Amino acid sequence: MSFNVSDIRKQFPILDTQIAGKTLVYFDNAATTQKPRVVLDALEDYYASSNANIHRGIHYLAEKATAAFEATRKSVQKFLNASSHEEIIFTYGTTDSINLVARTYGEAFLKAGDEILISNLEHHSNIVPWQMLCEKNGCVLKVIPIDDHGDLILEEFDKLLTEKTKFVSVVHVSNALGTINPVEYIIKKAHEVGAKVLIDGAQASSHIPVDVQALDADFYALSAHKLFGPTGTGILYGKKDLLLSMPPYRGGGEMIKEVTFEKTTYADLPYKFEAGTPNIADVIAFKSGLEFFDSLDKEALHAYEEELLQYATAQLKAVEGIRIIGEAKRKVSVVSFVMDGVHPQDIGILLDQQGIAVRTGHHCTQPLMQRFNIPGTVRASFAPYNTKEEIDALIAGLQKVRRFLL
Ligand SMILES: *Cc1c(COP(=O)(O)O)cnc(C)c1O
Repeated sequence: MSFNVSDIRKQFPILDTQIAGKTLVYFDNAATTQKPRVVLDALEDYYASSNANIHRGIHYLAEKATAAFEATRKSVQKFLNASSHEEIIFTYGTTDSINLVARTYGEAFLKAGDEILISNLEHHSNIVPWQMLCEKNGCVLKVIPIDDHGDLILEEFDKLLTEKTKFVSVVHVSNALGTINPVEYIIKKAHEVGAKVLIDGAQASSHIPVDVQALDADFYALSAHKLFGPTGTGILYGKKDLLLSMPPYRGGGEMIKEVTFEKTTYADLPYKFEAGTPNIADVIAFKSGLEFFDSLDKEALHAYEEELLQYATAQLKAVEGIRIIGEAKRKVSVVSFVMDGVHPQDIGILLDQQGIAVRTGHHCTQPLMQRFNIPGTVRASFAPYNTKEEIDALIAGLQKVRRFLL
């Protein structure tokens, strides 16, 4: 276990990128994290020495690829502290995981008039699948409001939660504001009225420890690419009894036991939900991403990210005209802000010219931006390889923006 930023930086080749004579400052980690060398090597190694379709083959390569694929499932099980590898479903990412639950659990078990509770902090991927379900089966979507700091108003949640509530789907950590939600409380209260709970962990998984059994979450979704792994693969955790009760999602190869034209029987968990050839290479390389993350001293990492957050927040507040959006009581290292008189996109463009990558716009959370009456924000989101010097570069960049545009 170690936590040494310059050692960590050396593991990420992309951080050496030069832009207009400057070394890249990558502050767009909430959109996707960069990949350590071990992940790049795992991808290359898979195609160079293991490439084969998995599960059905009896030849050497097929068995090697299958073993590596299933080894990632075991790593994820350990990472989330799930009680069985059967509870870990590979998907294309958080969006796909949430759609899976809405389309299977939602269509099978939610009826007209049942209420689904989400929050004002949700990413579009935890809004739209539920709206689509409501249109189809007459469920009603309700929204937990937030206060001006970006915290959920728990008294309002308590009021919205009734016997009619059958499903609660909330984000663990807001990608736009960094708010850490009290999901333990939400899950406990929801279970008291008999509702099932899905937690969108896309943003939480790289910042705070996740233990699905301690949380008692019914479903937990995450994306590998936000956790130092490749794009195009993600996880749906589901409690075994729920997954067993749910109909399959997509039909095709891999997810069947036996097919006849009269009747098809489905495969056991987790394969029932994994139709077709999966994203084998990326799943295998995801294990290396998890190993990288595992190698970091978590206590030191959390302290370091907190230090970056506090430093950035203080430095940003000292710039004239800048207002932070989202100052929740508990936050991860994500900071969103606006500058008086300047459109976020213009800030993004001018920072890019200085080699600084931030995200601007609505961050796939348009209803959240509407809540604050703004078109969008500039968001800087920090990972273990970021430094205070990079934050200084951001601040200098913003001073330049002010001089240039105001
Ligand atoms: C990124 C993100 C998603 C969507 O993840 P995909 O990988 O694009 O499917 C959902 N929720 C949150 C909080 C996110 O940060």
